[in-house]
Amino acid sequence: MPSHPPTVQNFSRNVNFVPKKAYEAQSEDEVLRILTEHRGSRIRVVGRPHSYSEAACCEDVMLDLRKLSSVQIEQRDNGVWAAIGAGCQVKRVLAELEQQAGLTLPSVGLITEQAIAGAISTGTHGSGKHSLSHYVAEVRVATYDAATGEPVIRTINAGPELRAARCSLGCLGAIVSVSLWVRPQYSVEEHFRRYDTLTEVIAAEDEFPLQQFYLIPWRWDYWVQHRREVSAPRSWLAPIYQAYFFIVMEVGLHLAVLFLSQLCRLRWATHFFFRHLLPLTVIRNWKVVGKSQDMLVMEHELFRHVEIDVFVTRPNLADAITFVKELVSYFDGDDKALSSATRNRLEQLGLLKPTDIGAYTHCYPICVRRILPDDTLISMASSEGEDNYSISFNGYARTSELQGFNRFSEVLTDSMANLFHARPHWGKVCPLDAATVRMLYPRLAEFQRICLEFDPDARFRNDWVSQLLLAE
Ligand SMILES: Cc1cc2nc3c(=O)[nH]c(=O)nc-3n(C[C@H](O)[C@H](O)[C@H](O)COP(=O)(O)OP(=O)(O)OC[C@H]3O[C@@H](n4cnc5c(N)ncnc54)[C@H](O)[C@@H]3O)c2cc1C
Repeated sequence: MPSHPPTVQNFSRNVNFVPKKAYEAQSEDEVLRILTEHRGSRIRVVGRPHSYSEAACCEDVMLDLRKLSSVQIEQRDNGVWAAIGAGCQVKRVLAELEQQAGLTLPSVGLITEQAIAGAISTGTHGSGKHSLSHYVAEVRVATYDAATGEPVIRTINAGPELRAARCSLGCLGAIVSVSLWVRPQYSVEEHFRRYDTLTEVIAAEDEFPLQQFYLIPWRWDYWVQHRREVSAPRSWLAPIYQAYFFIVMEVGLHLAVLFLSQLCRLRWATHFFFRHLLPLTVIRNWKVVGKSQDMLVMEHELFRHVEIDVFVTRPNLADAITFVKELVSYFDGDDKALSSATRNRLEQLGLLKPTDIGAYTHCYPICVRRILPDDTLISMASSEGEDNYSISFNGYARTSELQGFNRFSEVLTDSMANLFHARPHWGKVCPLDAATVRMLYPRLAEFQRICLEFDPDARFRNDWVSQLLLAE
């Protein structure tokens, strides 16, 4: 039975939509029945709408697959295979894998609230591994048979079709299950250190391959969360470290940022906080070992915010970071922040407006994570050789006051796409246009061909993905 469609809001409430019909399918058979009933309509599956972009928007029939949430594991010759219902939340996948056989996923993002199909569909990533999409070995998709027009479930487990299905923004149909090889649970050691230069940070990657780092605005130094896989058992101080991290970083830092970005809004106070107060809260060189997901996952869902995340390849990272410092300072009101080379390039691109100076004060550590090259067609880290670095900007202004952040995101996206071939995350704020997508994704034509084969009548696309990915 369709439910009365309410307004659907994403996590950050910057995207709202009202589908004409909404279903929560209980089984794969029911998915096929809904497809039969709505032959000719446009159908869109939502996960747990945690995308900040319009990826999950649905204008017609919305399908929620949260009831497809089984996690079945099977020992095979070359490892353990997990078949996961598309709507299962990542946190439940992790709990089930651990409980059933002491296993875990090969890669996790900073949160685990997403549905597994939602997470892979936008290329969700953590640090030091490929994105989750890369590891997907089989996807089962409900779509319409091209010959008969009847709803069918197709299994995709090889070739360019698999590369497309690993990150497809819902364009191939309704994913009903995702399968991948999982791995034994492992331990991660973590400690914080501060560095003055990016060169020192990158040099530490060999020793700490899972590390992520923060460029601290208004100090412009680097605070690194050094992380590596270790065989040591959980530290006895790990619960105290995790309590400290939760209270100080997950809650305390966010309350301070909310105060600065929503109530106080004095630039000098923000600068003072990041320059002098934040460093006092970080305990350096305290090495702690814990279970992988306890160390790698954070609680960013506790405080509503918007986020943009741009991916650059390793050779572009140093210049991209320099550019980021200049742009953040320029938007904060420093007219002289742009070097003459940057100013000239932005003027040539027609990207600068005088009103941008002072339009947005960034108020959060800028998180940088390394993602190994993905074997996919259009995930942001899709590449044949280069590591990618995602550079994330969180904005905590009230939803009604996001103009400054949105404008900053537009300029950041356009300028970094042109200067560094930077790709914004599909699941974060993503102000791209079709021409830029074509420039950024060399395998887009292959993706388009596969979409047209699976969904020739555009039944599973929303306006946003149609315009971005499949525009003529
Ligand atoms: C607080 C927060 C923290 C985040 N941290 C990270 C992070 O660390 N790393 C990172 O990379 N991203 C991160 N994200 C982004 C997030 O992982 C992605 O946006 C993810 O796609 C959201 O999953 P979802 O289940 O909510 O999917 P939705 O947002 O509901 O949908 C995303 C896309 O998947 C499609 N989709 C969903 N289910 C199906 C299905 N069964 N079949 C076909 N298509 C489907 C939708 O149509 C849509 O195109 C974060 C987001 C938030 C809000």
